[in-house]
Amino acid sequence: MKPKLFIPGPTHVDQEILDAMAQYPIGHRTGEYRELQERVVSGIKEVLFTKQSVLVSTSSATGLMEAGVRNLSQRRVANFVCGAFSQRQAEITRICGLDQDSFEVAWGQATTARQVEQALSTGNYDLATLVFNETSTGVMNPLAEIGEVVQKFPDVLLMVDAVSGMLGAPIKVDEWGLDMVLASVQKAWGLPPGFAVMSLSDRALERSRSIPESQKGFYFDFVRMHKSGEKSQTTATPSIPHLYALSAQLDRIQAEGLENRFARHAQMAGRVREWGREQFGLFAQPGYESDTLTCFNNRFDLDLLALAARMRDRNYLISGGYGNLKGKTFRLAHMGDLQMSDIDDVLSVLDEVIKGL
Ligand SMILES: *Cc1c(COP(=O)(O)O)cnc(C)c1O
Repeated sequence: MKPKLFIPGPTHVDQEILDAMAQYPIGHRTGEYRELQERVVSGIKEVLFTKQSVLVSTSSATGLMEAGVRNLSQRRVANFVCGAFSQRQAEITRICGLDQDSFEVAWGQATTARQVEQALSTGNYDLATLVFNETSTGVMNPLAEIGEVVQKFPDVLLMVDAVSGMLGAPIKVDEWGLDMVLASVQKAWGLPPGFAVMSLSDRALERSRSIPESQKGFYFDFVRMHKSGEKSQTTATPSIPHLYALSAQLDRIQAEGLENRFARHAQMAGRVREWGREQFGLFAQPGYESDTLTCFNNRFDLDLLALAARMRDRNYLISGGYGNLKGKTFRLAHMGDLQMSDIDDVLSVLDEVIKGL
């Protein structure tokens, strides 16, 4: 039996989703396919509270992180960095040859609206990048407040890496003025890896139209992607199994209720924090703890490799620290299709394993 996934990606996948994926393929230029994509895209618009564009991408999220900066900046990018994934976004920006500045806070701290406002006030930038939920530190940034601040700067687009946050907490794309919000599906969507989704504002699409194709490339050109999307198609052959899975998942989300799904995440997060707050201490700045994963301090210098190995023996996969935090923290994901009973299970096994270390 494969261990149950409590790592922050890929996450646990319910059998119903696996079954939905295992269907005989259909032609991607058929009416049947177009109906499938249309259903999926309109479902994603609902969960992201947007009437603007939603596009699907056969890639992991990192593909869209790269596409975003290449499509949305012609001047200079402000990369807000609070951990490993937001740092990756800054690195991608540099590697793509775009001018950028990084605005960093200590890992475990949140990027604040005030910090964003100060940076953008210089007038140097036409794109800001932000991570919603920093998976390496367990910090959830104040997205609504930051969105509000960025709206004061009409020339600046806001691009949000919501990979480990999307569907685990509300993201009100139109109300908060978010120009691009991207996520892969192997985190809080609860699907197997290999696919990504994004929202794109009309402003962002306009910006992409003004960027030379040589900067954007072919596969990830937003204008090209949008043009195919208008016909409920994709430019190249998509991962059709993922569209089946997304369609099934959107039905299940509707059955659960989106608000209930968010509430379930908040409850699971509350339970996990309560378990470890006294014992270990939380790595995230108080008030900005993530609702989809928790990062604990390794206060007692536990052998985290041994901890993960013993948990693996008991059929649970948990995660040591990411990047610079390896050995110093451990993380538990509580997102996607995990239920409260799964959280109770993993915590009681953790208690036993820690006692025996
Ligand atoms: C997992 C993750 C990524 C990388 O996603 P891929 O689908 O592996 O490309 C990027 N950002 C955040 C915040 C993540 O959690």
